Amino acid sequence: FLEVNQVKKSFGQGDTRVEVLRGIDLTVEKGKLCVLLGPSGSGKSTLLNIIGGIDGPDSGSVAIAKEKIEDMNEKKLSLYRRKHLGYVFQQYNLIANLTVKENIEVGAYLSDAPLDVDELLHVLGLWDHKDKLPNQISGGQQQRTAIGRAIVKNPDVLLCDEPTGALDYKTSKEILELIEQVNSKYQNTIIIVTHNDAIKHMADQVVSLRDGQIRSQVYNDHKIPAMQLEW
Ligand code: ATP
Ligand code: MG
Repeated sequence: FLEVNQVKKSFGQGDTRVEVLRGIDLTVEKGKLCVLLGPSGSGKSTLLNIIGGIDGPDSGSVAIAKEKIEDMNEKKLSLYRRKHLGYVFQQYNLIANLTVKENIEVGAYLSDAPLDVDELLHVLGLWDHKDKLPNQISGGQQQRTAIGRAIVKNPDVLLCDEPTGALDYKTSKEILELIEQVNSKYQNTIIIVTHNDAIKHMADQVVSLRDGQIRSQVYNDHKIPAMQLEW
């Protein structure tokens, strides 16, 4: 469903040129939850940005549902990103003067078939907080709101770059459980980038990046629910 083929990417020029991705091949089946692991600087965010069409590869290709990102013109790519891709970051990037509900509604903008926002607020555990501003809720609730904004358009692919990085242990688990719940309820294909290799147990597929290459790839037949993870 999601296919990354021989993707290469370098930054810098001349002597300072660094090859960050050195020929990445990756396939994720529809509806699967994939965890992408790797040390700092190994190229995880760079790969996610290329999959999300935020950055382009130097060579190689990315296709979602057989549609190649590189074949899209800028307008089509921009529309594709807004309709079919959701992004969740470590920093929640919420709009400070909009309520929880309004922040989620921002994500529905442009989608032909957004999810029901009220239902989503319940799924996210935010119903009682829907009229509050971001600075009136906790970090975990802010991340739930950011997840809501990303999935309200029911994207084919949800990309999460260290979604629990700014949260404490207990709240991190709750956010992982929520992502798991979203995955099984809406069947989105999800990639989670993390440093935390205990998270890998909850995934269908675990990919380890090292020095710009995939060092190992494992398929999990016996997933452990996020709730039961110990790390
Ligand atoms: P972390 O776990 O710390 O988030 P990461 O695996 O996400 O790390 P990347 O952000 O993908 O790593 O960065 C990989 C390498 O590419 C780093 O050495 C980084 O400095 C470099 N890099 C990333 N983006 C750029 C850019 N826009 N310009 C120059 N170098 C960059
Ligand atoms: Mg990163």
